[in-house]
Formats: sequence, C-alpha cells, structure tokens
Amino acid sequence: MTSNWSPSSWREKPIAQDVVYEDQQDLEKVLGKLRHLPPLVTPIEIDRLRAQLADVAQGKAFLLQGGDCAELFSACSQDPIEHKLSLILLMSLIILHGSRLPVVRIARIAGQYAKPRSKPTEVVDYPVEGQEGKMEKKEVISFRGDNVNGFEVTDRRPDPERLLSAYFHSSATLNYIRALLSSGFADLNTPRQWSFSHVRSPSLQKAFEEVIDSLMDSLDFMRVAAGGVGAGKSDGTISRGGTETVDFYTSHEGLSLEYEEALTRAVQPLSAGNGFSSFARPARPSGSSSSRANSTVRGASQSAGETVDAKVEQKYYNLSSHFIWIGDRTRQLDGAHVEYFRGIQNPIGIKVGPTMKGDELVRMLDIVNPDNIPGKVTLISRYGADKVEKFLPAHIEAVKNSRHVVVWQCDAMHGNTKSSETDPSLKTRHFVDIISEISSSMKIHKELGTILGGVHLELTGEINEDGFSVTECIGGSMDLMDKDLSLNYLSHCDPRLNYEQSLGMLHSNVLRPHL
Ligand code: PEP
Ligand code: MN
Repeated sequence: MTSNWSPSSWREKPIAQDVVYEDQQDLEKVLGKLRHLPPLVTPIEIDRLRAQLADVAQGKAFLLQGGDCAELFSACSQDPIEHKLSLILLMSLIILHGSRLPVVRIARIAGQYAKPRSKPTEVVDYPVEGQEGKMEKKEVISFRGDNVNGFEVTDRRPDPERLLSAYFHSSATLNYIRALLSSGFADLNTPRQWSFSHVRSPSLQKAFEEVIDSLMDSLDFMRVAAGGVGAGKSDGTISRGGTETVDFYTSHEGLSLEYEEALTRAVQPLSAGNGFSSFARPARPSGSSSSRANSTVRGASQSAGETVDAKVEQKYYNLSSHFIWIGDRTRQLDGAHVEYFRGIQNPIGIKVGPTMKGDELVRMLDIVNPDNIPGKVTLISRYGADKVEKFLPAHIEAVKNSRHVVVWQCDAMHGNTKSSETDPSLKTRHFVDIISEISSSMKIHKELGTILGGVHLELTGEINEDGFSVTECIGGSMDLMDKDLSLNYLSHCDPRLNYEQSLGMLHSNVLRPHL
C-alpha cells in the first residue's frame, strides 16, 4: 500500500500550472457536489485496461491513443462523437489488419478539457465597454480549457462551476459512446458505416476498400469455420466476445487535481471473486484520517451507521476516466501531480520530452510504480522528428537498466508544433514530421531490443457544415499547404490531423508495428 498518500496529499506539494479561483467557497461547493456524484467508469474496466497494457508492453498488442488536444464542451454532440469514434475504430481495424496484433483503443475524450499553457496570460484585442466594435489591447488569463475558463477573451476568469459542467459533459459523451458500442456501432461486420466515403484521395479510398473487403472475407471464413459461433442469431452476426463490439477506453491529462481528487474513490476489493464489492466513501479533504490507507471503511452496500470494523486494504481509483496522464509541464518529481498519480490504481501515462534526464525518469518510475505492476505506466515520448535520435536512446537505456517494464508510446505531435508561415498566430504540424518521428522511434526501439508499443496522436474526424475536414496540419494525401490552414482551422489549442491525414498515416505503413 502506498505510504503517506491520500487523494488530497498532493495539496501539500508545489502545484505546477495551478488555477487560482477567486472564491474558495464556490470551489468547495462544487467539489462537494462532485464527490457526491457517481463514478463515470468502474474499477473492473480500469483493471482490464491495465491488463491489456501489460500485453502491449510485451509486444502482444498495439496501443492507439488519439483525440483532440483540447476537447470542448461543444464537442459533446452526436456528430463529433460519432466521427471520433468511427475514426479510431477504423484506424484500429487497419492496424490490426496490417499487423495481426490486437489493438488497445484509448481516446482523448470524455474529460480532455484542461490545458497547461506556456504563458499564464496573453495580450488580446478586447472589446471596449460601451463602445460597439471598438477594441483595445488587454492582458487576460490564457485559455486553460473548457473546465477552467472560456475561449472568448471576455470569459477568461476561472469559474469553478465549469468543473461540474466538465463532469456532466464527460458523462453525456461517455453515455453516448457506451450506447453506440452496445448497439453494434463497432460491429466488425459493418465497418462501411464508419463513413470513410468522405476520404477524397482515390488511392486512399481504394486502399481502404481493399482492407475492408479482405476483412469481410476473413469474417466470412470465421463465420463458416466457427460453425456454431453466432449460430442461433438470425442475423448471422458473431456474438459478443467475437466481433460485435470492442473495448474502448477514455483518457485525459490529469491536470486539474481538485477535479481528479473529487472523482477518486476508495474501493474495497472482494475477498473472493474477481471484482470490487463496493465503493467506500470518497476520501475527505486533506488531513482526514478516513482518507488514509488501511483505515476502517464503510462500503456503500452497508446501511448507514453499519461499519466494517476489520482493517481492509482499500485501493483508490480515479473513476473519472480509465487512463490519465501527467503532462510534460507538470511532471516534477516533488510536485503535486506526481504525488497524486502515485496513489491511484489506474494505468497512467507520463509525457517524456527532451528535458527529462535518464536518472530522473527511473526515479519517476520508482515513485509512481514501486511494485513494477505490469501495464501500469506508459511512457509517452515526445521530442520532435529532429530530436528523437538524440534523446530516445538514452531514455530507453535508462529504463532497460532499471527493474521497470513500461509501455513505450510515441506522441508524434507535441515535439513537432510550429507556427504557420502565412499566419504566425496559427500553430501547425507537418505530416512528414509526424511520420518521421514515429518511424525513427520504431527503428530506435528495434535496434535497442525494446518495443514501440503504440502511438499517441491529436486527430479529429470533425468536418464543417460543408463536409470539409479541418485544415490544421500541413501535408498528407490532400496535400494541404501552409496557405490552406485558415480554410477550416477549428482547434482552440494544438493542430490535429484530419480524417484523411489520420488514415493516411496508416497508408504510409508507418503503423505496422513489429513487422
Ligand atoms: C497534450 O498532450 O495536449 C500536451 C499538452 O502534451 P505535453 O504535456 O506533452 O506538452
Ligand atoms: Mn496538445
């Protein structure tokens, strides 16, 4: 059991990227409500993901993680959710088809609302009060994500009510994902419904048609060969456990620790069986003895007043999401984020950029995964195409020389961000840099005898009213150029690969793991 840890022990440490709320009472009211609300995911789902990531670490599965840089509350709507889900499903199917490896799918969705920023404030054009249309320069707090403040320059004051709104938007998003998955949306027998018809490149279209045809053939074969599998189902589909639905997990950066703490719940393991018996009460704020490990807990299944006296080893799960990660700006070993992350059961990610030292990386693993639990830690490397050769080998060697087993994942986005040449206010990324960082990482891992277990991408299936994909990254099958970026630039944070570019990554063969 993790020593001297409680869901609130992070409060004693320095908090990088902290958000300052004007009214602590308002914040407390919101957090009290959040502590009362039901979990969004369950410990069983979280444990299942951790087990699947243990397979990824051994090269028995591939990890595909992707979604928006900053998810917006407005993305909690039918089309954006369906587009994102279908894009990730289709990508995973193509990876599976090419590599014959199971794919673990994690989306940056249903909670990816908080953003770290390089500068806490920015100077903007601000409307002059009482003078219609007149603007003045004003320094305002940077946009920190929809769960903190608004993107509109007049709405930058951090508002705690947004944390509550984040919970409800996450829960509505997750509810629709769960509904789609349980209604056959991910049925491998019907991948054509994932609407890749708006892929404009004829060669890409053809390539995907071929993948789908070949997959249909394999499924037909399985249906015949399996004989009984799915028999009894009049529609001939293969039953659950076959291809009807898939596991699909949620993730976000665990940045806003007040929120994460409020959704952290003590779970009392069953003495027999394979699940959890009940949720104990969420831990009280800092200093409360009930939040300590091995304290006496009362499960929700017991009636009020009835207390289990035996000392039970309780475990803490962050039940807002299956997977959360520590950003490159908040991974200080003695900081609040590392303190919070070391106590939860969820599989976690750690962003690893050029400033990470090899010994620091190993100390980090010692802190967050002292028992070296398989599947617990995913190292998300993000150096940039021109820096990966310089930094990745030393990080791999440091981990190899330690006792730790990790999932290595390449975030090919965050080291490759540049300003647009035509409009320096727009951030962009070049498709070729993204491909290059992934293929270099794959090569380096192969040379050093380790495995690149997965990729981490910022992508979107979003289209505008005219059916056009976003234009935020340069290159890819549509050959988007710098001057095209302003055509349909929708991101409020980092540039994302659009639908065609995301699928194009697969066409480039860069995601043929371990071949
Ligand atoms: C992100 O994943 O959106 C992000 C901010 O990444 P990093 O912490 O690696 O900069
Ligand atoms: Mn980002």
